[in-house]
Amino acid sequence: MTTVEELGSATRTVSGRRLAALVRERCQDANLAHEVEVVSRVLPFKVSHHVIDHLVDWQSAPDDPLYRLVFPHRDMLDPGHFGAVERALGDPPALRAVVAGIRGELNPHPGDQLTRNIPHHEGAELSGVQHKYAQTALVFPRHGQTCHAYCSYCFRWAQFVGDPQLRMADDGPQHVIRYLRAHPEVTDVLFTGGDPLVMHSARLKPYVDALLEPGLEHVTTVRIGTKALSFHPARLVTDPDAAEMLRLLESVVRAGRSLAVMVHVSHPRELRPDVTRRAVAALHGIGAQLWSQAPVVRHVNDDPRAWADAWRAQLVLGIHPYYVFVERDTGARRYFGLPLRRVHEIYRDAVATVSGLGRTARGPVMSTAEGKVVVDGVAELPGGPAFVLRFLQARVPDLVGRPFHARFDPTAQWWSELVPFSPYDRAFFPVRDEPGDEGERPAAQAGPR
Ligand code: SF4
Repeated sequence: MTTVEELGSATRTVSGRRLAALVRERCQDANLAHEVEVVSRVLPFKVSHHVIDHLVDWQSAPDDPLYRLVFPHRDMLDPGHFGAVERALGDPPALRAVVAGIRGELNPHPGDQLTRNIPHHEGAELSGVQHKYAQTALVFPRHGQTCHAYCSYCFRWAQFVGDPQLRMADDGPQHVIRYLRAHPEVTDVLFTGGDPLVMHSARLKPYVDALLEPGLEHVTTVRIGTKALSFHPARLVTDPDAAEMLRLLESVVRAGRSLAVMVHVSHPRELRPDVTRRAVAALHGIGAQLWSQAPVVRHVNDDPRAWADAWRAQLVLGIHPYYVFVERDTGARRYFGLPLRRVHEIYRDAVATVSGLGRTARGPVMSTAEGKVVVDGVAELPGGPAFVLRFLQARVPDLVGRPFHARFDPTAQWWSELVPFSPYDRAFFPVRDEPGDEGERPAAQAGPR
């Protein structure tokens, strides 16, 4: 058996100042390298050697979508912030203050993750667990709070910048298990992070074993959220403990539970390397179901062909397209975000070109504090154009599956920018502190019938 320490050398990555050196070397562009240096002081970046050697097309960098997926770009910061960091570069205390201020402005925990999703158990907050929807609990194992590389658009970027106040990490499997025993409504446990597959199998094992203990039969599905197939597929093929990890995951299936590997695929090129295909085959070989998801992001996959190609490749590999997300209102959204109108067009145009089996991805979906809201399109109503919306998941279960409308706004990028179309629709929106809202009722009390 390999030790946890030995595994550390299995994933070779480049981060921090070495990123600028890599860009200078590969692109022969000193200005680009300087911009990488500045932006990476604010947002976290880490690139695996698999991405550097097998995914990025260096001839097309910095415009290559896979380069944009993982490397810093000047436009990720607004010009004022960029200049402030640049001026503070030689002055560490000033730089720390500037960086902290900018991070605070980038909405580090969208969707009220640090407040509304944290459950309580036996009178205390349960750290490292989120329980937003009755059937599904998210677990953030302490040693899985990083990834093999970082997506530059990551909505969990705050996890990676080293500020303990912005981290979500659990206190070990015992606390999680006690909570789950008291919650028989939970059928699905999602291990997430970060990426739980950065953990040595010995670190993940106590969690998996505990879930399979008597008394937790109500947990019928164990989900693993991962981008290892794209960032470090050797994790499941040639890493020192790849076989141990597969055996551990297989124990879920052997126990009669469902093992769902939620793979994050941003671009079809991620599925091309042979080692990635071998990793997919290894997961199928142990009885795993594979489901894919990703957000639509400018510069990376804002093209219906990219989505259609990715779905076709997934069908061949036996991966079910699951979710198309709207980029969340955090981090470098000024750089990655797209109007909801455009995101829906991309989704619709992509769906139109694949067979029925490829049309299983739901979207585009905003994962909001109130629930998962899908944008079904734009309708012409007697009062004007409107977004047609629907909750796929909601804190208030009664709201799920009921169509509602928001005023069409061609520039709106997120839920918080939408305005109810009619008095009926107000019940689906959170109470917002606006003049004249005295008559509005909380959604929990006002579920439309
Ligand atoms: S794989 Fe997921 S958690 Fe990791 S950087 Fe990408 S979006 Fe963030």
